[in-house]
Amino acid sequence: MKLSILSAVGFLLLFHQDSAAGVSHATFGKTANGEEIEIYTLTNKAGMEVTVLTYGGIVASIRTPDKQGHFDDVALGFEKLDGYLGTHPYFGALIGRYGNRIGGAQFTLNDHLYTLKANDNGNTLHGGIKGFDKRIWKASGSTKSSVTLRYTSDNGEEGFPGTLKVSVMYTLTEANELRIHYFATTDKPTVLNLTNHSYFNLAGAGNGDVLKHEVTINADQFTPVDQTLIPTGELRPVKDTPFDFLKPVTIGARIDKDDEQIKFGGGYDHNFVLNRKGSGPEKVAEVYEPSSGRVMEVFTSEPGLQFYTGNFLDGTITGKSGKVYQKRYAFCMETQHFPDSPNKPSFPSVVLKPGTRYRSTTIYKFSTR
Ligand code: BGC
Repeated sequence: MKLSILSAVGFLLLFHQDSAAGVSHATFGKTANGEEIEIYTLTNKAGMEVTVLTYGGIVASIRTPDKQGHFDDVALGFEKLDGYLGTHPYFGALIGRYGNRIGGAQFTLNDHLYTLKANDNGNTLHGGIKGFDKRIWKASGSTKSSVTLRYTSDNGEEGFPGTLKVSVMYTLTEANELRIHYFATTDKPTVLNLTNHSYFNLAGAGNGDVLKHEVTINADQFTPVDQTLIPTGELRPVKDTPFDFLKPVTIGARIDKDDEQIKFGGGYDHNFVLNRKGSGPEKVAEVYEPSSGRVMEVFTSEPGLQFYTGNFLDGTITGKSGKVYQKRYAFCMETQHFPDSPNKPSFPSVVLKPGTRYRSTTIYKFSTR
């Protein structure tokens, strides 16, 4: 009798653990057109939890422990769909077709001039007026630790050529890694640069600015920009500039320096030329927040990293738990090909041809120390 009670309790515990870790989904709300949006919750055995929306492929929350084991959400965003449907600076979003800027909202490919939707000082930022961040993705195939979102972008969407079939797989591993794998194919030559636009604050979303976060970026060079944040084409050494993050430095240490590049960005808003050895995912950056002890490592297969310090956040957005997002309340590490590559033949190519497959991997790994 005793034994059977014990085994029943054991079974319940086991069942409880199994139901806690894994992937579940629920309705998150409806768009103005009545389309249903789902939220996928990925949980691992350590209790880390990531949520992903079918609207914009948005990573809506990342709950991870601090050094005391206290969980907090380190990603800026909203509790409800309404927030994401409104105006916001790409919180958590899946960015495409082209992460960051294309100068003059146009490019030439195979002698054909393509004109894009301009949405940022005459340039195209993050895919145009209605980029992938505002599209509804279809969740197809979730496993015990991942969900895959799919979207077909029509030929000509926002001005980009080719029918593009994109799938993005989000995985939460037992090692507290959020892994993002991007795949795409096209039926006409096109340009492509996919990324994720999560805004991180390792002390917890909304809990102050990120100036005390310590950042390391494995990049000997960065791509300086003009006033509208379009790269000049130069690869400039970081040595003796505020862009040297080869050894850990706080974000605040040099963010207000009297430096032309810092002024153009209003802080950091620049692409770093990553030091790479091969073509697979490699560790390229690390961020440490001393009060919580949280650490985030970034691994990617991409050649570049846009390090953006939330300079355009201005206190007009109220996010989760009623917290107001002020200037520099978050940082982004957008893994990418270099901005304006379609117009910069010297930069690594972003051309995708029919018959080839676009693949890109980025991993955000969380720990404490
Ligand atoms: C850009 C910033 C921009 C932010 C939000 C970043 O990727 O580099 O200039 O303000 O996205 O749109």
